Amino acid sequence: MSAQTGTDQPSTRDLLALYRPDLERAIAEAGHPSYRYAQVYQHLMRKPGSPLSEATNLPSDLREALDPFGHSTLVEQRKWEDADGTTKTLLAAGDGALIEAVVMRYERRSTACLSSQVGCSLGCTFCSTGAMGYVRDLTAAEIVDQVHHLQALLAPEDRSISNIVFMGMGEPLLNLDAVLTAIRLLKDPEGMAFAQRALSVSTIGIPSGIRRLAHEEPQVNLAISLHAVDEKLRTQLVPANRRFPLSEVLSAADDHFTITRRKLFVEYVLLGGVNDSTRHAIALAELLRGRVVTVNLIPCNPVRGGSEPPPGEVAAAFRDTLVQRGLNATLRTGRGRAILAGCGQLATKSQAAKKGIRNRGPGR
Ligand code: SAH
Ligand code: SF4
Repeated sequence: MSAQTGTDQPSTRDLLALYRPDLERAIAEAGHPSYRYAQVYQHLMRKPGSPLSEATNLPSDLREALDPFGHSTLVEQRKWEDADGTTKTLLAAGDGALIEAVVMRYERRSTACLSSQVGCSLGCTFCSTGAMGYVRDLTAAEIVDQVHHLQALLAPEDRSISNIVFMGMGEPLLNLDAVLTAIRLLKDPEGMAFAQRALSVSTIGIPSGIRRLAHEEPQVNLAISLHAVDEKLRTQLVPANRRFPLSEVLSAADDHFTITRRKLFVEYVLLGGVNDSTRHAIALAELLRGRVVTVNLIPCNPVRGGSEPPPGEVAAAFRDTLVQRGLNATLRTGRGRAILAGCGQLATKSQAAKKGIRNRGPGR
């Protein structure tokens, strides 16, 4: 690729080539001195939202030459604000593909929820992204630029992103090269300098990807989307369970713990009348017994024709059953419900709107 620094650390030029190979090539072709790579990289990483024409550390000829490449690979199409502090953005990539990036504001932190793919090949029955099917993988730049976009959005509020979760559209472990490159860029001390422990990857459970993540980014948090305890019900909800059965997913999660010693997070979407009974809660507690784990219960956002969330008292009883059996368990409140913040719901809603299909509106 390009100049090495002589240590294991990649040079800034290498990082720029990983992030924006188009810009790296343009600088090289114009024969600029090597420190220009660092200046361009630092402008993009440290001044999110600021066009290259405003990079005053660059000579004007280089600014003009680079500006047409764009400072971001993504352009905002729409934005939804929820009174609970959630902002959901719909972003268009260069080829017009639409993805979602969400920020959730809390008292002491702001969490960015990123997409890793356009659509998803895995077809979970309760998930809007699954219903879209797979369109394409995102590039590392398209992943990092979601963070830049949300940072720029928070800047006027004197806030910045403190945590990042890969819980938007797509299956991050099926686009692991780009996700690992994005994580490397997000962590880079010369760039945004996120702590690995502030990053979490959520997966439906791809055993080889879980093990690779453990080896390559041992401090990144792992969340497994479980949703059902017995293989039969899980296969109904998560068709990928046929290829990657729960037993193998849990065995990979155990290897992850052996390697990383990091607590496991389990996500469990509560679907009314499907997986939300006391019997299911007891079975979940049995399955996870002895593991260092926190279970996040997520009442489902209803998707057209699919399950409704259980009544609040049923969800609370499910959590209580887990807690009584010694598990850490939290019940997520319906963040972003009013703006349909369920995975993939805005992108599909927007596509449906384009096609003139009437969709169930927010706040239903
Ligand atoms: N593909 C990965 C990450 C993206 S989905 C995964 O499945 O883990 C992120 C989370 O959103 C998952 O836990 C998923 O189960 C959840 N989710 C998907 N559709 C949902 C819905 N309709 N309501 C609530 N949560 C949903
Ligand atoms: Fe894909 Fe995750 Fe949605 Fe399942 S829940 S279809 S794995 S994005």
